[in-house]
Amino acid sequence: MTEDSWGRVRNELLKTLGKNNFTTWIEPLTLDRLQDGIARFEAPTRFMRDWVSRNFAEQIRQHLAKAGHEVERVEFHVAAPRPNPIEKVAGPRTKSAARPAPRRGDEAELPGAPLDARFTFDTFVVGKPNELAHAAARRVAEGGPVTFNPLFLYGGVGLGKTHLMHAIAHELQTRSPDLRVLYLSAEQFMYRFVQALREKEIMGFKEMFRSVDVLMVDDVQFIAGKDSTQEEFFHTFNALVDQNKQIVISADRAPGEIKDLEDRIKSRLQCGLVVDLHPTDYELRLGILQQKAEHYRGQYPGLKLANGVLEFLAHRITTNVRVLEGALTRLFAFASLVGREITLDLAQDCLADILRASDRKVTIEEIQRKVSEHYNIRLSDMIGPKRVRTIARPRQVAMYLAKSMTTRSLPEIGRRFGGRDHTTIMHGIRKVEELKATDSQLAEDIDLLRRLLEA
Ligand code: ADP
Ligand code: MG
Repeated sequence: MTEDSWGRVRNELLKTLGKNNFTTWIEPLTLDRLQDGIARFEAPTRFMRDWVSRNFAEQIRQHLAKAGHEVERVEFHVAAPRPNPIEKVAGPRTKSAARPAPRRGDEAELPGAPLDARFTFDTFVVGKPNELAHAAARRVAEGGPVTFNPLFLYGGVGLGKTHLMHAIAHELQTRSPDLRVLYLSAEQFMYRFVQALREKEIMGFKEMFRSVDVLMVDDVQFIAGKDSTQEEFFHTFNALVDQNKQIVISADRAPGEIKDLEDRIKSRLQCGLVVDLHPTDYELRLGILQQKAEHYRGQYPGLKLANGVLEFLAHRITTNVRVLEGALTRLFAFASLVGREITLDLAQDCLADILRASDRKVTIEEIQRKVSEHYNIRLSDMIGPKRVRTIARPRQVAMYLAKSMTTRSLPEIGRRFGGRDHTTIMHGIRKVEELKATDSQLAEDIDLLRRLLEA
């Protein structure tokens, strides 16, 4: 049988099976040979082979017969392994116009997020607060047999979760370029999933996620409360664990503390190794600053850095590493612009706002007072039991600010809000986080309140 004739049969299949089925299942097939009544096809993956042979074999056979080919049996085989799957792999080599479009399923480009080239193990400074997380990440990055699954990294914002995940991906890719490593945020996972649903390509979606060797999902707390995405995530997760494929997950809190996450998912997440990144301590902050300063010395040659400046910053900026880095970046840029040595004075001038913000210790009581004033409600209602929206919402805003601007724990915050349970506080915070994304008025209110409180 000629390629042209297979091309015509394909057109017939397109008509009977519909475009979606066709592009997902038929297009990726290559006709290997037709001989002695046996049509032999190659499919890109085992999964596709099984699916096609179960669902479409008979129709393919009938269409071949209609086109005048004697076919008793249709066989499907898995094509030989292909080179580096991370790069986009072109369609199979065929010489004719009937060349199929690029394959789908696991041969397609992995829809991961790009990796930040700066986030490597080399640039990650290890200290007491993150040494366990770092060691676990290193272990995973070595590859080899999976010893704990998943690796679950959690910790507050800016403590290096994303950095570590990228470092793992870089390292794995360097060691074994053929490994299919997929890194993406939980938000992207959801986006892909919804898109696949919309375009009726859910089989392709499943196949793609089940075909990776290492799956890394960042900020998994994002899918809390998103039921169908959770469901899909759960299945993907299980399928990969069953195949003994490494999974790395990050979140801003421990699995058990993520509200609106199904219990079965929580318990699955807890099955592996759960490690937290603790808030930075002085030594770690200084270490990070020294490393960064070293980097900037190369970038701004001739710029002088006075003794004690880094120590001063490590001491004063305790919020998170991102803020710390931002401060140093600004400092070097400013100093090079004005052509001055970086001294304590210069740092204090140039970073006044950052220093002030991390300097002020805001109390929960102040937050409650400012928020009640802003929304015109009574302070007593802030901690009282009323549940009407006009009171409940400001209360939730106050809870949110209490969590983000103080170091108080959820149970402590609960106690200051009239002895509420920590789960109530968590719920309030989540609610505000969600609303903030869509309600610009609320987002503005919060910014304003934060500035008032920091002033
Ligand atoms: P998270 O994902 O936990 O919110 P990131 O991984 O995005 O935090 O880290 C925020 C910034 O701080 C990044 O620029 C990262 O490189 C830097 N950072 C965090 N921890 C360290 C560390 N231990 N050493 C070097 N840089 C760090
Ligand atoms: Mg992150």
